[in-house]
Amino acid sequence: EPQSGDLVAVAVSENVAPIFGPSLVWPRGTGAVGLAVAERRLVVSEDVLADPRVTFTPELRARVEQASFRAIIALPLLGKKGVVGVLGIGDEPGRVFDAEEIRLAQAFADQAAIALENARLFQEAQHALADLKAAQEQLVQGATMRALGELASGTSHHLNNLMAIVLGRVRLLLAGPESAPLRRPLEVIERAAMDATEVVRRVSRFARMQPLEDWQPLDLRQLASEVLELTRARWQDAAQAQGIRIEAALEGPDLQPVMGNAAALREVLMNLVLNAVEALPNGGKIAVRTFSEDGWIGLSVSDTGVGMSPQVRERALEPFFTTKGPRSTGLGLSESYGILQRHGGKLTVESAEGQGTTVTVHLPVASPSVSEGTRGEPARLAASALRILVIDDDDEVREVVAEMLAAQGHGVLQASGGREGLALLEAGEKMDLVLTDLGMPGVTGWDVARAVRARWPGLPVGMLTGWGEQIDDATPDRRMVAGVLSKPATPEGLREFVAACHATSRRI
Ligand code: ADP
Ligand code: MG
Repeated sequence: EPQSGDLVAVAVSENVAPIFGPSLVWPRGTGAVGLAVAERRLVVSEDVLADPRVTFTPELRARVEQASFRAIIALPLLGKKGVVGVLGIGDEPGRVFDAEEIRLAQAFADQAAIALENARLFQEAQHALADLKAAQEQLVQGATMRALGELASGTSHHLNNLMAIVLGRVRLLLAGPESAPLRRPLEVIERAAMDATEVVRRVSRFARMQPLEDWQPLDLRQLASEVLELTRARWQDAAQAQGIRIEAALEGPDLQPVMGNAAALREVLMNLVLNAVEALPNGGKIAVRTFSEDGWIGLSVSDTGVGMSPQVRERALEPFFTTKGPRSTGLGLSESYGILQRHGGKLTVESAEGQGTTVTVHLPVASPSVSEGTRGEPARLAASALRILVIDDDDEVREVVAEMLAAQGHGVLQASGGREGLALLEAGEKMDLVLTDLGMPGVTGWDVARAVRARWPGLPVGMLTGWGEQIDDATPDRRMVAGVLSKPATPEGLREFVAACHATSRRI
């Protein structure tokens, strides 16, 4: 035993076993074997009980007294890094081992030492290999997720723009006087377009593009307890109605705060709890556990449900991967993964088929230097009629936004690019607000914002963009714009956004 230095029998011959029992331990330094280890050399004794060099515990002495083998050779097994064990050979008292016998025992001890050391090296090599495999799997997963993320971000950009057009047009039609006979089908279109927007929103969350605003210190345990309450209808009432029983419990200590977006993290926990419920078609238990480990706050959601096969486990984090058929989106875990990445956290899945699943979330502990209240209340000021310049290279998107703004009583000028927009201002158009798209060829939204800030410092610029997801407070240019709104913009969203942007100009 490397720690204690005690000698624990690995193997004993059959006539020794009945005397010493199945687990023979020589405390450090005792017996002829202990002496051989301590002195790192061969010990030969004609009768160990009579040998003044050899010490025993009373218990072991009593046992040796019953034994007939008290003449002993003890040989340390010497490996590269020192003693790895000891070989003890005993016979009747008075037996004298001759040189040839000792040479034979020594040769055996040397072989045994090599064999033991090889076994240890082999085990270490296997551990190292397993670690390497795990690291490699993580790398592959990371690369796959990144590739999917890029694909998703490109797709969402286009879909956002298209949805902006569909939703905007439908809403203008609905608001118009001739809508009455078409109201039902228009509402169906509106509903479908909003669902599509929701899917795009979830994909972009996975793709780590969604701006996570409203960062604040959060109590993850509190959040988990809210989520268990919010989902109670699913795991308790619905389960009972099907004649099964699901128990859910929150365990573990209170936690230090984490910095994050409450809605996003609530969604993560919701996804995990609902997955657990769905994995329990015959009922069972869900345990949400909190823990903390050096610098991280952790929370795991475990279920005693169906578990995942290795193949499912491998793909579970992919967007749109589902084993639940067409009614499920397969976005829960991928979205959660993306949200955690945005929080500097991690999400790990452990599962075995038929044995349940544990999904663990790690988040960094909030640093105490966070300044609170910098974000302020969302502006509630209603903007009265403003003159607004809308810049977007996509004609359809721009027109929809312009019409929505016009419907809200604003005067709107349109420009199909950054250069045209700046030219209008240069020509002396008096504006209260500029709303610009970010990703435009030539002069981008940032260029517009920079130019406006330099030439007309009191004129606020709002960024209205399908790429909005890429802008967060870490973006260096973020402070140049009064606000960022992701497309597709709804009339209500646009109304609030305009009011908020305009309010910042008053503050300046
Ligand atoms: P969805 O729930 O819409 O299928 P998710 O991304 O949430 O999508 O999950 C992807 C897949 O991972 C699920 O279809 C399921 O096969 C597997 N999975 C997720 N959570 C669990 C769980 N707790 N137990 C068993 N399988 C799970
Ligand atoms: Mg799910």
